[in-house]
Amino acid sequence: MKREQSWDMGTLSVWGGEKQTANGEPTQVPVVHSVSFGYQDVDEWLKAALGLREGHIYSRNTNPTVEILEEKIRILEGAEKATSFSTGMGAISGLLFGLLTKGQRVVSIRDTYGGTSKIFMEFFPKAGLEAVLCPTTDFERIEEEIEKGCDLLYLETPTNPTMKIVDIKRLSEKAKAKGAIVACDNTFATPINQNPLLLGTDLVVHSATKYLGGHADALGGLVCGKKELIDKIFHYKEITGATLHPMSAYLILRGMKTLELRVKRQNENAMAIAKFLEKHPKVEKVFYPGLESHEGYEIAKRQMKGYGGMLSFTLIGDSFETVKRFLPKLKLAHKAANLGAVETIAGVPATTSHVECTAEERKSLGIPETLIRYSVGIENSEDLIADLDSALKEV
Ligand SMILES: *Cc1c(COP(=O)(O)O)cnc(C)c1O
Repeated sequence: MKREQSWDMGTLSVWGGEKQTANGEPTQVPVVHSVSFGYQDVDEWLKAALGLREGHIYSRNTNPTVEILEEKIRILEGAEKATSFSTGMGAISGLLFGLLTKGQRVVSIRDTYGGTSKIFMEFFPKAGLEAVLCPTTDFERIEEEIEKGCDLLYLETPTNPTMKIVDIKRLSEKAKAKGAIVACDNTFATPINQNPLLLGTDLVVHSATKYLGGHADALGGLVCGKKELIDKIFHYKEITGATLHPMSAYLILRGMKTLELRVKRQNENAMAIAKFLEKHPKVEKVFYPGLESHEGYEIAKRQMKGYGGMLSFTLIGDSFETVKRFLPKLKLAHKAANLGAVETIAGVPATTSHVECTAEERKSLGIPETLIRYSVGIENSEDLIADLDSALKEV
């Protein structure tokens, strides 16, 4: 798929989906809090209800503010159509349960977001669905499982929290040849750094709560891609009701105007910090796909335009006690379960990405309990490095 407009991503972040104003209309997208939309003419109302003319009916289905956000992500990802959800998990479950029917088989990876792997492990069996979770970077094994039967290939890259890189193009080609639908969670990369649709997937899903919104003040989820698939996912959402609130849609829209600026800065900051940590004597291992030492570096270089703002690391003499002492020493980081905001955020998988999993499950995923996940903000990188340095000195 190709992006229809020739403008650059920075321009599209600002202007994508926005309307030209005429005759004294507001330049900014209005937040339309109305639950329903009125009609005097019953025939026109009927046409709108049946989708035969434009027009909103009820905000669980569509809403003017929400619609503009959907248009912005559609343009940024180069998709045919987009739809939104109240949260990223709403979007992921809407994608899976809106498309799949009893008896179907999903091939995915072990390192999906904690909530996503919970859907596969806990809710799939109840719905009569099967999910095979392969070792994340064992592409041959994933291809073998696709070969055995695959209705949907579900990918995520870079992964949470050890930044594994999955080869989107290679696996999409394989799955498409078997007639499967391919979806990819692009939350960590954002459309600025990676466009899965251009690499061959049918769908892209985002937790808009993270980088898209960027200010840690609104939850939201977005799915975009092929029209016929989005129509089904939209239908599941409009009936089951995980609808995005117009105020959240507005906050995410406002955040997205600076998406390119923020992500470029976060790419630069994260690279500088990863290099600093890699050389630091108290740091054992750094996980950042922009480092040549990273297992997925070559693929990341091919499929990403920037390596993103997420990194993680372990300390020498690793113990949970050391981590507990280290985290509060960071002055320039919220210690919280979130990522992708303008402020730096630090945490451990047990309280953040994999809070839904048991300690045994995290161990089986190869996630050290003492891993520190660091979501780099848009602060000055020298200040962040100095903050990390002084916290490291004290442990
Ligand atoms: C946070 C996150 C989600 C879930 O999003 P919510 O908005 O919290 O529901 C899904 N995937 C990834 C990669 C995430 O980081």
